[in-house]
Amino acid sequence: MSVQNVLNLIKEKNIEWVDFRFVGLSGKAQHISLPSSEVDEDTFVNGVAFDGSSIPGFRGIEESDMVMMPDTETAYVDPFTAHPTVIIMCNIYTPDGERYERDPRSIAQKAEEYLQQAGIGTAAFFAPESEFFIFDDVRFETGMNRSYFEVDSEEAAWNSGRKEEGGNLGFKVPVKGGYVPVAPMDSQQDIRSEMCRLMAEAGLRIERHHHEVATAGQAEINFRFDTLTKTADNLLKYKYIVHNTARQYGKVATFMPKPLFGDNGSGMHVHQSIFNGDTPLFYEKGAYANLSETALYYLGGILHHAPALIAITNPSTNSFKRLVPGYEAPVNLVFSKGNRSAAVRIPIAAVTPKGCRIEFRTPDSTANPYLAFAAMLLAGLDGIKNKIDPRKLGYGPFDTNIYELSDAEKNEIRSVPGTLDEALDALEADNEFLTQGGVFTKDFISNYIDLKRGEAKSVNIRIHPQEYSLYFDC
Ligand code: GLU
Ligand code: MG
Ligand code: MG
Repeated sequence: MSVQNVLNLIKEKNIEWVDFRFVGLSGKAQHISLPSSEVDEDTFVNGVAFDGSSIPGFRGIEESDMVMMPDTETAYVDPFTAHPTVIIMCNIYTPDGERYERDPRSIAQKAEEYLQQAGIGTAAFFAPESEFFIFDDVRFETGMNRSYFEVDSEEAAWNSGRKEEGGNLGFKVPVKGGYVPVAPMDSQQDIRSEMCRLMAEAGLRIERHHHEVATAGQAEINFRFDTLTKTADNLLKYKYIVHNTARQYGKVATFMPKPLFGDNGSGMHVHQSIFNGDTPLFYEKGAYANLSETALYYLGGILHHAPALIAITNPSTNSFKRLVPGYEAPVNLVFSKGNRSAAVRIPIAAVTPKGCRIEFRTPDSTANPYLAFAAMLLAGLDGIKNKIDPRKLGYGPFDTNIYELSDAEKNEIRSVPGTLDEALDALEADNEFLTQGGVFTKDFISNYIDLKRGEAKSVNIRIHPQEYSLYFDC
């Protein structure tokens, strides 16, 4: 909506607060609220000043003044506040009026500008499938005090919100048995429907929701694809509504990729395609999975740069606990039209020429969506520019069950990095694709690597509960 529309909305709905939001490197939304009486046309021209020095990965204390520049196209009414509030996403600028080079939202916009400058297409579309768990709040806190989460049937019963001890276990979702059962096994239909209702009111177009494979109230809601920055904005809205609806129900939602050892984790598969005007560039009738050469090169770029890319799409130590065999999370850097252990899958069911797309299955929701979508687009564009042919580089297609290949064949297949540090090593060695068009700067990349190395170290230096089980009685 335009600036005038926002000012009208404030009057019509008696809005008391305008909540200006931005994201730092972590991708978590942060906010500062102004009384609506203080907000006028000038606010949208001059922006809102804030101190950037306390945001991890942003400026040093000596140059802390920053400006939030609101994007009124993103405005929506907060469904959760008692005092009527309108939320607006912002870009971050320096006091000199330049886009701040470490602002993730500006990076996302620069990636879209680069797509056009490179003359490859006019728009890239993204659709994330962001999975999450809804846990019983009290139980989750109790669980946090235990040495670590491990799934067993009793745990499953507790986590799925049915707390009676003993008795009939007949209506419990078994471990890894959660995929789309009806009630009473699925006890979270209403909470997901309420999330969807609030998301629709906030402007998301909802396509479906369902219980996911894991036992303990794992959920997925899908909203419609859009262009890169808009989809990242939408994902922030999605996560905000998921977290706060769960809280209203006395539950807690988590997007952590692997909260339960021994059960499926939560991914964020990302569907993506490029259009030139109205023409879908990924479709070619009759080719393998109806994929054009452009699409093959795009996915070639994704697979070729995957070890480095994963440092941005899977940026937590916990991300790598999900990327293990046996849980539908991808492990193999290959493409396939069916195989769910492949990092890139080509959906073929009910796909129209315009809907022809690739699905990168590696990412998870600890990713900052602005950075992750921008990085995926740049990897794909690098593939197109340099004609990186995945068929010639051993990335497939693999349409047989990869687990049934011979050892020699399996040895040919590359795997995702095993740890965050390995992914960061790969990013250190391979980051030219990100600096195309000046989208990511070298300063951004080295600052990002430092920040993430610090996170990895903070986990590595702590004593793991499993170490007690292995070594305590040595
Ligand atoms: N939860 C799985 C993952 O970690 C994906 C399940 C699915 O295919 O939707 O990627
Ligand atoms: Mg899913
Ligand atoms: Mg999927």
